[in-house]
Amino acid sequence: MISSRTKLFALIGDPVERSLSPAMYNAAFRKLGLDYVYATLRVARGSLPEAIKGVRALGIRGLNVTTPHKVDIVRLLDELDELASRVGAVNTVKNEDGKLIGFNTDGRGATEALKEKVGKLGGQEVVLLGAGGAARAIAFSLAEAGVELTLANRTTLKAKKLAASIERKLGFKVKQVELKQEVLKRVLEQADILINATSVGMYPDVDQTLVKADVVHQGLLVNDIVYEPLTTRLLREAKDAGAQTMNGLGMLVHQGAASFELWTGKKAPIDVMKAAVRKELGEGRK
Ligand code: NAP
Repeated sequence: MISSRTKLFALIGDPVERSLSPAMYNAAFRKLGLDYVYATLRVARGSLPEAIKGVRALGIRGLNVTTPHKVDIVRLLDELDELASRVGAVNTVKNEDGKLIGFNTDGRGATEALKEKVGKLGGQEVVLLGAGGAARAIAFSLAEAGVELTLANRTTLKAKKLAASIERKLGFKVKQVELKQEVLKRVLEQADILINATSVGMYPDVDQTLVKADVVHQGLLVNDIVYEPLTTRLLREAKDAGAQTMNGLGMLVHQGAASFELWTGKKAPIDVMKAAVRKELGEGRK
């Protein structure tokens, strides 16, 4: 029940219509009996400054931030936590008595989900595809977790800059290679984990993949952070090749759980959030 005391949280981005976040957070708020509600607000690229003024004026308690605002929002906030500042992008905002503080929970979401699957990440050889917002956050968190990291991205310069930025800020050496099948085949032979952190394979372009099936081997864990569809072409072909697979649901729920904990100070009901997302994907997306 929404009352006169209900506190508002929201996702801002464009598009937001297919977001799974309202189902995920509202289920968590209900489970903990919190008088909070989560909505989506479509904010076009040029309207972000006005939207943030609106957040302040209306006292919206917290935000998630998605494409295309994750980088542009940085300069509109009052404070950034250390990780968001390193990554240069924000996916979570907390309104603390009028002060807007930016966080980035994408990296933690990805590493927590991977740890659920493989246990310890330290020492694992990981090939990460992408150098966009999500990939940047994941790359910093993986480097901090002590993995041997190799980056590959369509725009090579972006991956180079990301590798240099991790080396400068964290002091970890990160390899960077070209996104070509023969190069991937070579680096994947040594790798334990492949992560697709690009948008390739995402709805509606579900027949696309960046990795040919014959470069995947049996000992590899293939993680696609795309969650719509849950089984991407990459994951389908990797499974057929005998590799272990992991979809983007774990990251989605763990980054959401981290945001929930920042907003509420309470432990997130992860199973409830996971079930809500599965239900939405299964029943709401025919
Ligand atoms: P983004 O900042 O727009 O970055 C997109 C990335 O995909 C870039 O590396 C881009 O390469 C690459 N890319 C796009 N089209 C390509 C193509 N045709 N061929 C090769 N590379 C291509 O997006 P993002 O925010 O990082 O999100 C990426 C994906 O992760 C999206 O599908 C999003 O839904 C998903 N995601 C999932 C979670 C989760 O919780 N599971 C969280 C965040 C994001 P260039 O640099 O060359 O353009």
